[in-house]
This record gives sequence, structure tokens and C-alpha cells, in this order.
Amino acid sequence: RNSMKSYKEDFPLLRNSSIAYLDNAATAQRPEAVLKAEREFYEKYNANPLRGLYQLGMDATDCYEKARETVRDFLHAKKSSEIIFTRNTTESINLVAYSYALNNLKEGDELLVGIDSHHSNLLPWQMAARVTGAKLVFLDCEMDGSYTKEAIEKVITGRTKFAAITHVSNVIGRVNPVEDIIRLVHKNGGVVLVDAAQSAPHLPIDVCAMDVDFLAFSGHKLMAPMGIGVLYGKEKLLDEMPPFLTGGEMIESVTRESAVFAELPHKFEAGTVNGAGAWALKAAIEYINSLGFATLQERELALTTQAMEELKKIPYVNIIGSQDPKEHNGIVNFTVEGVHPHDIASILDGAGVDVRAGHHCAQPLLKHLGVFVTTRASIAFYNDEEDIHRFTEAVKGIRRMMGYAE
Ligand code: PMP
Repeated sequence: RNSMKSYKEDFPLLRNSSIAYLDNAATAQRPEAVLKAEREFYEKYNANPLRGLYQLGMDATDCYEKARETVRDFLHAKKSSEIIFTRNTTESINLVAYSYALNNLKEGDELLVGIDSHHSNLLPWQMAARVTGAKLVFLDCEMDGSYTKEAIEKVITGRTKFAAITHVSNVIGRVNPVEDIIRLVHKNGGVVLVDAAQSAPHLPIDVCAMDVDFLAFSGHKLMAPMGIGVLYGKEKLLDEMPPFLTGGEMIESVTRESAVFAELPHKFEAGTVNGAGAWALKAAIEYINSLGFATLQERELALTTQAMEELKKIPYVNIIGSQDPKEHNGIVNFTVEGVHPHDIASILDGAGVDVRAGHHCAQPLLKHLGVFVTTRASIAFYNDEEDIHRFTEAVKGIRRMMGYAE
């Protein structure tokens, strides 16, 4: 591709509209290839996966299992039985909270949670702590959002039986030192879940190199449809866990009183699965692979640099987290002194720029940073210089529009 603009051509919504969509961390846009795959499933392979013994049913199963294999390869997992399809990151994390934490934690244990957790990676652990009597302990970050070696070493002890860590925060955008945390928790005999909702769209993930026990992400942030998500878990742990949801298609046999559960991964996939979603997630991953993460990262860094450099020139604008665009993965969270983020978002909407305003489902983090509400622009590789220009030009006029002299 020689023109930077051309990525938008792959995305019908962007191709047919003039908006500058900068809310990619909330949900990505879908490329043609993904929309085509979803339609293809229903047009060519539609039957209830994992059930039908007729050819069409077997085709549907085949699509679903091929998608699982693509996800396995994407995460560099050893076995496809370690890949569980869920609805989203939230469901993946809840699965681990209910099936693992409730059965393995007890009073006296500590459950470690990063202060930068999205509420989806906090509320399930608050529940697990409440039910088991384990103590919820926070790993606090610095004011620039980073975790220091000292903070990590101080908080992880022999009591740390479980740690729920965010790979890339949806507020800060920096890559957290998850490998260091995993190594230390393992050394102390604990288990780690990594929330990869914001990292999976931006960087290659190798669950074996990370040695992570559980990892969760959502398809919709990765250009796949809404309603398909992934949980990776080490086979040994998943094998020992009871099912999260029970019902059809997750059993070997059922009597009036009891049931023998199916083997992995189906033990954790009760009810009719999202066959078309899985098939389209496969297409999304293939689309990413065809471009390569290096290309995505280069584009995102160039656009993030443009955005941050322009924002830094504007008086009364403060960027949350690191001031280095390399540490943002496309996430640029900021405040404009004296202006509420809801006003900022409406003004930007008026200029044709879509951003997110509010607490970003991370209230404890924002309280820790002392900002409470912010505005977030989140950039994807398919954005272009014109999107960023329109965004920063609109931010320049905000204070005046709100009645300030400058
Ligand atoms: N974790 C992080 C870091 C997120 O950014 C999000 C989505 N904003 C989630 C979890 C939850 O993802 P979902 O709503 O797809 O379950």
C-alpha cells in the first residue's frame, strides 16, 4: 500500500462517512473481510455447531474449530483445547472468577488487582474476595501510570494466591510489565490472569513466552463482531475447574440427577455457540496477520505522535500518563482545564470527531490519579492524518467556545 489513507477503503463504515472515529478502544470498526465472513457463515455453513451429524452441521463445526485453531496460533498457545470462546473479556474474566477463584481461594489468601483495572477486571474479584474471604490487595501505579519494580516486589508475597493484571490499560495505554509480575507471583505459588482487551489489538501475544495462566480478550476490539470473546487458560488449570455455565452441549452424558461434563474446551461453552462470530473473528485475525503488527504499530505511533505533539502545544490541555507517544498504544487521554469532558465530547462531535468522555470504567484508577473524568481519543491504524488534524484543531477551540479568554 502506498497511500496511508487507503486502509479506510477496507472499512465500509469509514469509507462511506466523513467522521473521524477516535473511539477505537471502546470498539473497533469492521473491515469488509470480517463482514463478509460473518455473512458467509450464515449463507454457506449455517447449522448449530458441535451438534449436527449431517454434512452442513459438520461444516458449521468445522468453521468453529478452525476459528479456535486460528486463535490458538494468534496467541501462540500450545493446544486449541486451551482456547475457550466466550462473549467478551468480561465473561472470560467472570468465568475464571467463578470457576477458579471461588474454588481455590480462602481466608488469609490475597487476591492482587492492578489499580488500572477496568471495572470488568475488578468487580469479579471484589465478588470472589467477598465470597471466599480472601483479601483484595491493590498494586498501585505511579502518577504517570507506570508500575515500579519496588511496588511490584512490595505487594507480591507468599499470600498472593491470585493476581488479575491488565496488559494495557484503557486509560493509560502503556504496556505493563506483566512478565515480571507473572514470574514473581509464580515464584510465590500464585496464579495470574492477564486482561488483554486493549493489548490484543495492538501487539503480538505469546501466552507461552509470558507463561500466563489465564488471558482474556474481546473480538470486537479486534475488528471482529460483538459477542465473541476469548479465554485462554493453561490446560491443567482448566481441566481442574468446574464448568461456569451448565446446560446443553457441554456434557458427555446426563442422568436424572447428574451429568458427566464434556472435555475441554466444550466444558466451558454451554448452549449454542457464536459460530458466525468465531468465523468472523478468524477473518479479523487473518486480516491483522496480512498487515502484520509491525505495520499497525508504525501507523499507530505516527498518528499518536501527531496527536500528542499538537495537544501539547495547546494551553490548559494535559495528557494523562506518559508524555512519550511510544507508551500509548494509540490511547490519548486528556483533560482541558475548566471544561467537563462531556462538553469536550459534544464539541468534538459537532466537529465530526468521535471520542469517549467520562470515567472509562476505571473509577479507582482515575481517583488514584486525581482526575475523576477525562476525554479519550483512541487511535487505530486505519485512522489518518486528517482525522487527527480535525481532532486537534477542534480541541484548540474548546476553551474559547466555553467562554474562556484563551
Ligand atoms: N478490560 C479492558 C482493559 C477494557 O478496555 C475493556 C473494554 N473497554 C474490558 C476489559 C471489557 O471488555 P468487554 O466490554 O468487551 O467485555
